[in-house]
Amino acid sequence: MLSTKGYAAQAAGVPLAPWEFQRRELNPHDVQLDIIYCGVCHSDLHQARDEWGNGIFPMVPGHEIIGRVSKTGDHVKRFKVGDTVGVGCLVDSCRECDYCHDGLEQYCLKGNSQTYNGLEQDKKTPTYGGYSNMIIVHEDFVLHIPENLPLQGVAPLLCAGITTYSPLRHWKVGKGHKVAILGLGGLGHMAVKFASSFGAEVTMLSTSPSKEADARKLGAHKFVLTTHEESLNAVKGYFDFILDTVSAPHNYDLYLSLLKTDGVHICVGAPPAPTQIMGFNLIMGRKSLVGSLIGGLPETQEMLNYCGEHDIISEVEVIHMNYIETAYERMLKGDVRYRFVIDMATL
Ligand code: NAP
Ligand code: ZN
Ligand code: ZN
Repeated sequence: MLSTKGYAAQAAGVPLAPWEFQRRELNPHDVQLDIIYCGVCHSDLHQARDEWGNGIFPMVPGHEIIGRVSKTGDHVKRFKVGDTVGVGCLVDSCRECDYCHDGLEQYCLKGNSQTYNGLEQDKKTPTYGGYSNMIIVHEDFVLHIPENLPLQGVAPLLCAGITTYSPLRHWKVGKGHKVAILGLGGLGHMAVKFASSFGAEVTMLSTSPSKEADARKLGAHKFVLTTHEESLNAVKGYFDFILDTVSAPHNYDLYLSLLKTDGVHICVGAPPAPTQIMGFNLIMGRKSLVGSLIGGLPETQEMLNYCGEHDIISEVEVIHMNYIETAYERMLKGDVRYRFVIDMATL
């Protein structure tokens, strides 16, 4: 076993603190990487505080990982020592079911292995994430990083990027569509960049008036303050799509009223409490309320290549590892511009 340094929550809601733990020895198809940067996703906070009720502790969060390959197993073909690579939200899956065959490992029928707060495919060994100095991952779950982009800005693409790219592609959002992005945080700011890059008319729906100028710089054509009734009324029945990235419970009925007939409200934000929805708000206007989970490995590579070709990165604030609890508190207040990324040299 290989001794690894990280930051962990020892139990639900206990502040993260330094922790040494063991990772497996390198298998023939494994890649070992020294972690350079790790993004901070709101899912890290939800899980470290066990808000979804599925926490495995001690927990080392982090699934937006950029690292340099330090060793490769004997059979590894796609990577060599010194390569800069990425690891996202998944480190394994059954590889046999229909979804795995289609590159949709996130929907693996036998249960994928999440990068942290998950289990390896033996269904007993816990996984530990990127708030650590080193990780070992099967080469099939390691991604190539475009060479022309700054690494801090690439780390968040591994979750915030793919989670917004995937549904926009699945529902073929582009030219001629009016799309609203709900919530301007880590996911929201990537959604604005992708939706405008795909040619849609993009409106930012936000609770924070102070984010308007940034939203426009990121590519939004319009900005609507959701706490201002008149501004909301002006966009009733206006949108083809809403991409909802909000992390806290909110009023879905209100946002459904902003959709056209046949409009689609896509949930990627995962609030930790259930919400009631009035069926009539779907019925009147044949509207759809749908969801989407991260993205599979082939699509994540496609998204990274797209970002390389179109110079798309995340706007980041680089932090020290010991700033993590403050970063979480700021995230809860909506004070993220627009993704915290941990410089792992500070571990
Ligand atoms: P984040 O950076 O904290 O951004 C969330 C944004 O939502 C905030 O900046 C804020 O934007 C808005 N917001 C927060 N509380 C709100 C409230 N009560 N009412 C209305 N708006 C509110 O979080 P993130 O990292 O982007 O993650 C967002 C959510 O997506 C989390 O629940 C996370 O777990 C989930 N997630 C899901 C997937 C998936 O596969 N589906 C993957 C990754 C993350 P404004 O200031 O603009 O209002
Ligand atoms: Zn995430
Ligand atoms: Zn599978």
